[in-house]
Amino acid sequence: MLKSLYENDRITAKRSKEILNIIKRHNTVTRSQIIDRTGFTMSTLVRIMNQLEANGLIQVTQTLDTAMGRKPALYSIHPEAGYIIGVEISRTFSRIALMNAAMDILKSHTFGMYSNITPEIAMDRIIEWINNYTKEVSKDKLLGIGVGAVGPIDREKGIMMNPVSFSATGWENISIKNILEQKTGLPTWVEDGVDLGAVAEFQKGCGVGMEHLVYVICGVGLRLGMIINGKLYIPHRGRNETFGHMTVKLDGHECSCGKKGCIESYVSFTAILDEFISEIKHGKSSVILEKIDFDLSSLTFDMFCEAAAMDDPLANKIIQRTASYLAAGLINVNNLLRPDIIVVGGVLIRKCRKLFDLACNIFEHEIGRNNILSMGCFGEDAVMAGAGSMVLDHYLK
Ligand SMILES: [Zn+2]
Repeated sequence: MLKSLYENDRITAKRSKEILNIIKRHNTVTRSQIIDRTGFTMSTLVRIMNQLEANGLIQVTQTLDTAMGRKPALYSIHPEAGYIIGVEISRTFSRIALMNAAMDILKSHTFGMYSNITPEIAMDRIIEWINNYTKEVSKDKLLGIGVGAVGPIDREKGIMMNPVSFSATGWENISIKNILEQKTGLPTWVEDGVDLGAVAEFQKGCGVGMEHLVYVICGVGLRLGMIINGKLYIPHRGRNETFGHMTVKLDGHECSCGKKGCIESYVSFTAILDEFISEIKHGKSSVILEKIDFDLSSLTFDMFCEAAAMDDPLANKIIQRTASYLAAGLINVNNLLRPDIIVVGGVLIRKCRKLFDLACNIFEHEIGRNNILSMGCFGEDAVMAGAGSMVLDHYLK
């Protein structure tokens, strides 16, 4: 039904899409809220909404109690209005999910992006899981594939251009859109993953009702997406990784970009592990050393987190230092953009909550305001939810 609505240019279809867009944007709305935003008469609105409800595109979520005792109904997008395949390609993992129109993840599969995972191997695995999931839903309701990948992205052509720091070789000029459309027959849209995370938190997460939101992914590097005046901001030349190369220490550590003192050279898996190993080589001790039989080459970031969880003084010192650099970067972003909220996500933060908490303390102390930093509502599902939202938006144009 969403597909036929998309192909229909008649006035009722246009009004239906306008109503669906308002419901999608606000999650749940009453009829009078829709009238306020559209100017439709109540009779027109009731007629169209009755059709949308009969066709399974919207549903009454709940009724509101008011002081007058009346109970206006709240409408939302019906979860079974359509199904979407979401794909996330990051430098640490890739994930494929089957989602409904309410962005609920019904099933998902994740695999690590190790040094043997070339683009060919990754795309084959992604296609295999997409084919598994598409068998489970009616073709009529399958809307397409939304991909959130590491930028820079050629959005029109759906190409991952020249991302850095993938473990395997060959990750450049990957025509994700072409490959997936040819192998699955489903329309595919590709966007920078960090932008999709921003969209998800803005539309349905902790940024609902706000106008300016910044979303940061911390992992192999640092990526930043932003919503300004209620709209996704696409940076110059589509590059979202420039935040990672913001200078936080003049003449500091050497960065992969060739400059010195970039925030990414202090806040990343590699930077933290390098610092940890360097301190141990300079004579510092850690509780984790016995566990790895003093073999520093076997040390992983998970082990570092384990040491931190055991209150290891060395791990704590490094987290404190890393948190101060992360906070400095976020304070600069805050002072520049004055967002309503800054959501900090990514595997680095999820594995090391202490890092976020310490950065948050420094941030709040320095700017004198609370509740600007958040870990978001979607957690590891943010990019996926944003990918689903992107596909749905296409059908509501
Ligand atoms: Zn740099």
